Amino acid sequence: MKAIAVRPGTPNSVHERDIPMPSIDKIPDGKGILVKVLKVGVDATDREINDALYGNAPPGDDFLVLGHESFGIVKAVGANVRNIKVGDYVTATVRRPGGSIYDKIGTYDMTSEETYYERGINLLHGYLTEYFVDHEDYIVRVPKGLKNLHVLMEPMSCAAKAIHQAFEAQRRMKVWSPKRAFVLGAGQIGLLSTLILRLKGLEVFTLARAAGPHLKSSIVEGMEANYVATSQTTLEQLAKKVGKADLIIDATGSSTIAFNAMEALGHNGVLVWTSITGGKELTTVPSDKINIEWVLGNKLLVGSVNANREHFESGIKDLALGEVMFPEVLHKILTSPVNGLSDYKEMMRLLVEDNSALKVYVNVAEE
Ligand code: BGC
Ligand code: ZN
Repeated sequence: MKAIAVRPGTPNSVHERDIPMPSIDKIPDGKGILVKVLKVGVDATDREINDALYGNAPPGDDFLVLGHESFGIVKAVGANVRNIKVGDYVTATVRRPGGSIYDKIGTYDMTSEETYYERGINLLHGYLTEYFVDHEDYIVRVPKGLKNLHVLMEPMSCAAKAIHQAFEAQRRMKVWSPKRAFVLGAGQIGLLSTLILRLKGLEVFTLARAAGPHLKSSIVEGMEANYVATSQTTLEQLAKKVGKADLIIDATGSSTIAFNAMEALGHNGVLVWTSITGGKELTTVPSDKINIEWVLGNKLLVGSVNANREHFESGIKDLALGEVMFPEVLHKILTSPVNGLSDYKEMMRLLVEDNSALKVYVNVAEE
């Protein structure tokens, strides 16, 4: 069957290749599930793997099948699969457990080991292929009514984890009840974080560079949040105008902005960093000022990566609620389809060159 892969370490090595059809018999305990891939989303991670900034092939192979944002339909299940049946729509988690205590309790997104295993990213093949198999533990059902949001499940899980982490960490405050959030960046993670925070009832300001009206501003405003163009109002000016934030999510992909965000956080607040910044940027920050403000304000910085099953499930519930609260808004994120695996060059072109592509995804097959 067809797959889209790279040769890790070799820049711009994306190519189509033939790989064997997987079998559920290889999955232990009769818990295997065979998924026919319908759509796969791609993001900056895929672009940076193709740029050879990171990503490793599975042991014994010199290629890595790309794709970590899956959406498909179940075609076969092992004898002991209980909660998923043939015909269900599903997505799959990305990371697989290593050996740490965190891995053993299902929180593989929190592994304490240096080596992590992620399908389509590191040491495990991904989903940009015609079929994949996995253990029931890693397959998450997608309600039929959310079929139109297909590849958003995985990015949503990362946003759900990031915000869950913030709230978990803020239990330290005993009575924390955030009112105002700044979301930095209006890419997929920024927009999905905006949704979750709006569903929690916060006043949300979502910031991106370009002045609206445009697609991103209409999605933000469709969720009854405020779109702020940093080309007109800087983060600093916004904080002066409306007050500092109780919670900031950085999803810009810029480490400079991630550090600058430290100055816009209010007392007892939490700043969450979600971007994987693969570059070598050096930034100067007013470190004395930040240091004193952070100490005197009891502020907290949290890094958040990946997501486990729990976050997929809560993210899917929030997407369902979002569809009801803000109808006809979320699907606008899905801007840029590519037709078929063989058009992988167009997929990369959209990722690299097309600034208007909010979400690139491949239509792999029809049901
Ligand atoms: C993926 C995450 C993954 C992270 C680091 C992101 O693009 O969505 O699942 O943990 O990259 O590899
Ligand atoms: Zn991703």
